[in-house]
Amino acid sequence: MQRGKHQRIEECQQCGTCCEKGGPAFHQEDKPLIEKGSILSKYLFTIRAGEPVYENIAGGLTRASSDIIKIKGKGDTWRCWFLNEKNKNCEIYDNRPLECRVLKCWDTKDIETIYLRDLLTRKDLISKIAGLWDLVEDHQQRCDYGLLETLSSTFKDSHDKATEEKVLEMIRYDAHLRILIVKKGNMAQGMLEFLFGRPMLKTIVMFGLFVQQDGDHYRLRIKS
Ligand code: SF4
Repeated sequence: MQRGKHQRIEECQQCGTCCEKGGPAFHQEDKPLIEKGSILSKYLFTIRAGEPVYENIAGGLTRASSDIIKIKGKGDTWRCWFLNEKNKNCEIYDNRPLECRVLKCWDTKDIETIYLRDLLTRKDLISKIAGLWDLVEDHQQRCDYGLLETLSSTFKDSHDKATEEKVLEMIRYDAHLRILIVKKGNMAQGMLEFLFGRPMLKTIVMFGLFVQQDGDHYRLRIKS
């Protein structure tokens, strides 16, 4: 993707377009970058297994088959956090992840060989942190996207109250856990999307639903 200030790669036009479309997914080879602190976890987010995800190479929407850990976007955009908006340089060029090193916008052959292979997962990074990993695993089970998909389809077909409550219970748990771990566990807010993925209050829209909130009272609605 983007080159550093002093290096020249003739074919790359430094337009920043690749980096504007979103940061890379992390592979096993990238593990030391996070372990050594070259890239901090607070700049990452996790697409959890079963979560709908846009497939950049093949195109179209698919379901993540495992964790996909990626660099966060800036604000509400997909623009990579480390893309310098003024000069279009990569701010972590010497420590850029594998996908950034491999991607050539004029020839996708190399990226296609590694894409979605040997992906790094949260388990690879934090399973040895007792307590924290238990929380992450518990959240993963209680907020399972496969189950959410089944419940969402049922609700859309039937408007069944019991199903609505099951979905809302999942979303409430996800939301409360995030508040609790910051307030009582002193976890930095920026770590939440790496540890627990994107808030389900937001991702529920990918299942054709949204949550109407009235204080603590949640209602599930179907997107028109
Ligand atoms: S890490 Fe650097 S090269 Fe990779 S997408 Fe972000 S700005 Fe671009």
